[in-house]
Amino acid sequence: MADVHSKKVRSYNMSRIRSKDTKPEMLVRSWLHRQGYRFRLHDKKLPGKPDIVLPKYKTVIFVHGCFWHGHKRCRYFVLPKTRTKWWINKINGNIERDKKVKRELKKLGWNVINIWACKIKNIQGINHELFNIHYSTPVNMSRNR
Ligand SMILES: [Zn+2]
Repeated sequence: MADVHSKKVRSYNMSRIRSKDTKPEMLVRSWLHRQGYRFRLHDKKLPGKPDIVLPKYKTVIFVHGCFWHGHKRCRYFVLPKTRTKWWINKINGNIERDKKVKRELKKLGWNVINIWACKIKNIQGINHELFNIHYSTPVNMSRNR
């Protein structure tokens, strides 16, 4: 069968897939899965299209890359030496958007967890960052009907 995708389109698709299923996010997903949590991914209906949605706990999780989301005082957040101003604007824009999205989600009654990629380099880190989920109370789904 002929390959309908040109090389260019294919590599574009590949990069899209990579940016969606980043490794830190996969780590969080497999942790949640092992613990028996049910979750949805990249819910377009919610502000900011959260990476992971736990409907039962009315909780959303964003896994933030330290560079793109401007993790303060993080060793993984290093501004490029060229076009520095452009990068600062770009990243500040992302930070503002993250804040706005968080506000909107909270207004809708969602519990928002932001996890920095650098904090979950190992299993201890993931346990630490997600520990509080164990103490969230499941939402009574019938209550809102
Ligand atoms: Zn970081």
